[in-house]
Amino acid sequence: MGQVLKAALYTMALAAGFVRVRILSPFDPAQGSPALIPESYQAGAPSLLIAALPYGNLQETVPIPPPGERAAYIAPFAQRNYYREGVKRLQKLGLSFRTQYGGRRSDFRILCNSPVPEKPLAQAAGLGVLGRNGLIITPEAGSLVIIAAMTLPFFLDQDGPEPDLHQAEPFPWCVQCDPVQPPCVRACPTGAVRGDGTLELTRCIQWYASGHGRTVPPEIALNWGNRLYGCTECQDACVHNQRTIQGVRSTEGPLPAYLDPVALEALSDEELKARFKGTALGLSWLGPQGIRRNARLAASRKQY
Ligand code: SF4
Ligand code: SF4
Repeated sequence: MGQVLKAALYTMALAAGFVRVRILSPFDPAQGSPALIPESYQAGAPSLLIAALPYGNLQETVPIPPPGERAAYIAPFAQRNYYREGVKRLQKLGLSFRTQYGGRRSDFRILCNSPVPEKPLAQAAGLGVLGRNGLIITPEAGSLVIIAAMTLPFFLDQDGPEPDLHQAEPFPWCVQCDPVQPPCVRACPTGAVRGDGTLELTRCIQWYASGHGRTVPPEIALNWGNRLYGCTECQDACVHNQRTIQGVRSTEGPLPAYLDPVALEALSDEELKARFKGTALGLSWLGPQGIRRNARLAASRKQY
């Protein structure tokens, strides 16, 4: 029954747009990885479904604003709220699972953009492999995915790391790149990609753009460019993202590719909250101060 149920869940999840699906069974001491998942999530959840939702690289191409026009850029992954899209799709899946296989609504808890570290979960379940750029790379959609999970009230056999994904080599999917100066390391404008699967966060533009750090050091500000939100250089350079990668269509939290940073900077906290409510920039950890700081950095760019 377990294998049949698992196959049915996979089929339903893939039909819902997820590109890769795996099971972790945290309560099975023989197979599990209990330390990864807080107890509050483990209660009544013998298994966890982990899934990758692709946003891909086929977003509509937007013309670059003419020279002289102040325009701060929002990266494609933030032009829709793919986290919210992932949650909505998992909620629907949970409802379908419940209808067909039983359980209560509260048994299907969703972890998406949550405090639970998603990369170790994804690696443990074989959803993807850690790249030298510190991102999880999936076979189907490179690193152009968001990772989400949902607790399940029934036990399913855990998927381990797959042999083709995890070999003795620490970065099995990076073997085609120069280990010292791979494309992801070379592409980072601030030298934040160490090339060992970790980032020097205090050098990472995206880390600051997400609201971290009290101040942005001058050498990072110099390389900020016209970004309002989203540095993707280390992803764009990765050999696994060079092909055409289909993403899901989403209407959640649409944002244009460009916004006037000076106009944004002038908005009050309440106005900024209202402007970005429901979007990828509307998350509580970024806040109006973070958006205003990003806008100021983008506006201070010498040339538009
Ligand atoms: S997000 Fe940008 S700054 Fe951060 S590591 Fe990647 S390329 Fe470097
Ligand atoms: S660019 Fe090469 S080394 Fe860097 S993450 Fe991608 S595959 Fe790995």
